[in-house]
Amino acid sequence: MYSIEVVNMKQTKKQIVVRAYTPIAKPHNVSIQKNSTMLLLGEISYESGSKAFNTKLYYIKGVRGMLRHAAMSLAQDCGIEVCHSSEKTELKDGTQLVPSGFHPLGSCDPPCILRRIFGTFREESSISVLVDPIASIKHKEYTTELPAQKVHIATENRIALTYDRTAIQDFRESYFSGYFNFVIDITNLTDDEIKFIVESLLYIETLGSGKNAGYGYIKILEVEIQNVHVLRNITMDNGVYKIIEEIEVKPILLENIEEWRNAYMRENLIKIEQQHST
Ligand SMILES: [Zn+2]
Repeated sequence: MYSIEVVNMKQTKKQIVVRAYTPIAKPHNVSIQKNSTMLLLGEISYESGSKAFNTKLYYIKGVRGMLRHAAMSLAQDCGIEVCHSSEKTELKDGTQLVPSGFHPLGSCDPPCILRRIFGTFREESSISVLVDPIASIKHKEYTTELPAQKVHIATENRIALTYDRTAIQDFRESYFSGYFNFVIDITNLTDDEIKFIVESLLYIETLGSGKNAGYGYIKILEVEIQNVHVLRNITMDNGVYKIIEEIEVKPILLENIEEWRNAYMRENLIKIEQQHST
């Protein structure tokens, strides 16, 4: 006999919660003709002072790419050859796509640390990056029905001028400004890979487009490494079955990262030297 009262689900995962700030960023946007807007997800209502308001939710594109790019910089800094983002080595016209210190995506055997973490076009990534949608919420005190991160979102109408100030093109661009969080699910990573990802966070600099014009500067403010225990129960409430979730979060402490980094570098330098001598 199946009894629904005993149904529960237990899950343990590991995650890194990163708190970041940007004064102004244009995430890799959706372009519609001349206009580039943020990726619109839908609308939610939120409450402030017992009044209800509606606001639009947008997605911050490119956070995973930002992390991968940072991991590539770290690898380069450590002298470890890793996958580049391209599978091809050169274009038809001979333009080199893979700079020194990198190999074409997925060409390593055994797989390099970047490939083990981020995968390739064909191999799944061992991590997932989760970002709650962002929303423009004007009120200081508020509660939302669904997760949403409060930032400032604006659309700028811009006009490109020629040197004699004749308008040649007008276009619209969206950007956001403020604090935001993202979560990296590291449940499937080994301890060494976790340390590599944590250290990669130090190399995060920009998100999205327009960095030459000063857009997209990202400051990482806080990093928490957590063990998360999730317990879900089905419970009867007023004649309706409901899923009740309990979450317990505990910090994960890593052994001295600096020591690990030196050891890792040494190990790789030895490997490279051995390859040269054979
Ligand atoms: Zn590789």
